[in-house]
Amino acid sequence: MAELKADVLVLGAGMVGVSAALHLQQRGRDVILADRHELAAQETSFGNAGLIECASVFPYMFPRDFGQILQYAMNRSTQVRYQFSDLPAFLPWLARYFLASSPDRAMHSAMAELPLIRRSLIEHEALMGEAGAPELLRRTGWMKLFRSEATLATASAELERARHYGVAGEVLDAKAIAEREPNLNGEFAGAVYLPAPGFVPDPGGLGKAYAALFKRKGGRFLVGDATTLQQDGRAWRLAGPDGAAVAREVVVTLGPWSDVVFRPLGYRIPLGVKRGYHLHLAPRGNAVLRHPVLDADLGFLLAPMNRGIRLTTGVEFARRDSPPTPIQLQQVLPLAHKLFPLGEPIDTKPWMGARPCLPDMLPVIGKAPRHAGLWFNFGHQHHGLTLGPAVGRLLAEMMTGETPFANPGPFAVERFG
Ligand SMILES: Cc1cc2nc3c(=O)[nH]c(=O)nc-3n(C[C@H](O)[C@H](O)[C@H](O)COP(=O)(O)OP(=O)(O)OC[C@H]3O[C@@H](n4cnc5c(N)ncnc54)[C@H](O)[C@@H]3O)c2cc1C
Repeated sequence: MAELKADVLVLGAGMVGVSAALHLQQRGRDVILADRHELAAQETSFGNAGLIECASVFPYMFPRDFGQILQYAMNRSTQVRYQFSDLPAFLPWLARYFLASSPDRAMHSAMAELPLIRRSLIEHEALMGEAGAPELLRRTGWMKLFRSEATLATASAELERARHYGVAGEVLDAKAIAEREPNLNGEFAGAVYLPAPGFVPDPGGLGKAYAALFKRKGGRFLVGDATTLQQDGRAWRLAGPDGAAVAREVVVTLGPWSDVVFRPLGYRIPLGVKRGYHLHLAPRGNAVLRHPVLDADLGFLLAPMNRGIRLTTGVEFARRDSPPTPIQLQQVLPLAHKLFPLGEPIDTKPWMGARPCLPDMLPVIGKAPRHAGLWFNFGHQHHGLTLGPAVGRLLAEMMTGETPFANPGPFAVERFG
């Protein structure tokens, strides 16, 4: 059987893998990008809410407010839910997440990620320009609605804190909300409008546009199963249906499935998941949604995708591979109908995805310490669409010996011992 040789094998063609492959290619590396699917961006990078979150300075940490923790513990919140039968499987991870969310450590995570967040939209714009897909970026910003004065006050305070890091935003009253989004119905205490973030109305399409660019520039895309990866002397070998792919260096960009490579190699990395769901619905009549809108207190987001209005849920804690339990979707569906004139569902069943998360909400980016030629780039939590191109650049700079644009220290796998 044929053997394909390359400089680098990138495993996983989600937003993170495709972006890493492009940045390595830009630096002269011959790259093979491999995925178990025939197309790129068919998993988590397909189903997200489409926000390029360049205003999200503070990562989503475990809450420290006792009332909120109690509400989550009672499993009554639509924002966060957990599957009771899976609790023993993810409780140790939750404990680490809680410890990593102390104010000091949360601030450390925020400051470590800040250079990546700041770079996120710039890097996307560059790749979209090259890919010839500028229509996949809308410069609408997005809006977070609050129904109680208390949650609005917390969000306004957070905006003030974020302003110190260059984030622009506006607090809107009910009249200003109606001007921005005339078709919303409900009683709102107010909203926070963030003008800078980009919105991608087809995140899966964007991943595919980047993969098409990679192929146009001579990159090879293969179907292959990462579980077949083997170290063969100084090379790495991946089995594929049409023969093996062989390279001196391999990059793991398998998102929530990255453990299928690192675990057999002996790395104990606490990769967990926060699952989420989406469903597309048609807008009713001539109703138009201009921006992605988060109903923060009720725990869902509506985004005006090319396919229809994408209703996206908050977080579900469960094992990655447990069967879908779209209870949050069922809970918020009638609330979404009240918020915006929605018609029939477009999808026949809800989509489920898993945000790949480390307890400190920072990705793992860099060299694997015990295996020559093995590199990691996974765990981009709620921000993988946002960060893909920026972390692709960072990793490629590290691999090719350039001075990295951001300090990669906080992302090193060694932080887990
Ligand atoms: C409901 C929801 C909403 C979100 N909203 C946003 C948002 O608005 N903005 C944002 O920035 N982020 C958002 N995210 C997070 C974002 O989607 C993820 O962080 C990001 O998609 C992760 O990208 P990835 O490339 O690491 O993983 P993935 O996109 O999952 O890619 C991993 C790839 O690995 C492949 N693979 C898996 N196993 C194997 C195997 N054995 N062999 C070969 N290939 C394999 C898969 O097929 C897949 O293509 C959201 C996530 C969810 C679930």
